[in-house]
Amino acid sequence: MRRALFPGSFDPLTLGHYDIIKRGVTLFDELVIAIGVNAEKQYMFSLEDRIDFIKEAFKDEPKIKVTTYKGMTVDFCKKIDANFILRGLRNPADFEFEKAIAHTNRRLSEIETVFLLTSSGKSYISSSIVRDVIRNGGDYTGLVPDTVSVK
Ligand code: ADP
Repeated sequence: MRRALFPGSFDPLTLGHYDIIKRGVTLFDELVIAIGVNAEKQYMFSLEDRIDFIKEAFKDEPKIKVTTYKGMTVDFCKKIDANFILRGLRNPADFEFEKAIAHTNRRLSEIETVFLLTSSGKSYISSSIVRDVIRNGGDYTGLVPDTVSVK
């Protein structure tokens, strides 16, 4: 079974994530979307909302699972028997950042990181931009799947 982990904060899920997940799932038997829980980080959306947005967006995709985890990503991969980490690349800054993490993860484990390039037209979308738009009362709906909503 080729199981991959797609880790992130998903605060909130964006059309950029959605695109990587939809394309990534075709490469694996199972794709586990794992929301990393960091007690020191402040989030805009509650963990429950972030889980619900993702579950609802992929409710018709039996190969996609949603979960949360704490601690190191490679440790969680071992725990759930995932041999791959899926990541998206938007720009050179993502590449440099992801390269260091992927090399570190390879030192710590056998887990391979698989990268997909962002689709054209989606590279500018990030959760932090979506949060800024929301904070300033802008229309965020074109940046996120329609399961994401502000209460
Ligand atoms: P993090 O907690 O690392 O900031 P994110 O929730 O922002 O996690 O992102 C999780 C993954 O989704 C990362 O691999 C990131 O590069 C990828 N990603 C986010 N937005 C996009 C996008 N617009 N296009 C491609 N990949 C993206």
